[in-house]
Amino acid sequence: MKKASSPQSLLKHAVKALKNAYAPYSKYKVGAAVLTADGVVYAGCNIENSSHGLTLCAERVALAKAVADGHRKFSAIAIAAGTRTPASPCGACLQVLSEFCPTTFPVYCTTTEGTVTREFTLHDFLPHSFKLKKTGEDED
Ligand SMILES: [Zn+2]
Repeated sequence: MKKASSPQSLLKHAVKALKNAYAPYSKYKVGAAVLTADGVVYAGCNIENSSHGLTLCAERVALAKAVADGHRKFSAIAIAAGTRTPASPCGACLQVLSEFCPTTFPVYCTTTEGTVTREFTLHDFLPHSFKLKKTGEDED
């Protein structure tokens, strides 16, 4: 079980995951590492497909692995993109993150080598996420 104790450690997991990216079409490699509330790291990479719409982003792969293992609360995500400047998560990933993470959720973005890092919150990227009322919830 992988653990992370700092943003730098989480970023290293994201950079490492980038190396597993399957990106034969775009050559745009991304790695992500999500930290659960109890300190476990789940890493993911982008997985492209000939049918481009089926491509999976690294962020959603990492989150899906954690959710599939029973985790529902998260402390941070780190994203490493194969670019000279840190890349932002796409809208689909932000919406999926908003399902499980508060608006204050830290989002660390870095480059292939992890040399340039930027820190945001989920709110910075997606201040008004789409929300459905969960079955059994009271009206607001
Ligand atoms: Zn995405």
